Amino acid sequence: MQKDVIANEEINTAKLAQAEKIILQLQQELPSYIANGSGPFLAAVYDEKGNLVAKEANSVINEGCSHNHAEMNAIKAAEKALQTYDLSTYNLSLYVTAEPCMMCLGGIMWSGIKAVYYGVPSERVEQITGFDEGFKPNWFEEFQKRGISAYGNIAVKAGEKVLQDYVSDGKTVYQPNRE
Ligand SMILES: [Zn+2]
Repeated sequence: MQKDVIANEEINTAKLAQAEKIILQLQQELPSYIANGSGPFLAAVYDEKGNLVAKEANSVINEGCSHNHAEMNAIKAAEKALQTYDLSTYNLSLYVTAEPCMMCLGGIMWSGIKAVYYGVPSERVEQITGFDEGFKPNWFEEFQKRGISAYGNIAVKAGEKVLQDYVSDGKTVYQPNRE
């Protein structure tokens, strides 16, 4: 277990071990999504038995929609698969290669997802790529109040490498021009 992992509950080592395995797998798969035109983020929704419900990459560029972050896409796919707008009765967990941005935190809150596990923290995403992840005051605490577990900084090194490669390959940082 990595010592820099943070959580908004007492760390459950079984849940964390499962998250490390899934997030490392997502980081390994992500370069092939990027090669096909996706943005550098991948998210997956799993049920409590460890079955994959949905897995989606960021598709802002290839689908021409600023909302299409990996988390939003994965939640949408999970809701479609389960034919509901309320995932809360399914006890689902979202795993994502980097910390959710301000939009995705809202998307997660509205979906009924019960737990979030992420790889690279926003501060490092911003340093490496220049993406603006937004302002997110006390989100661990706010999620805790709403019964949503959050674990972060999982398999960070592998995730940073994918983002560094995205930048060094000259891929697009797709956000509004603020000049
Ligand atoms: Zn996002």
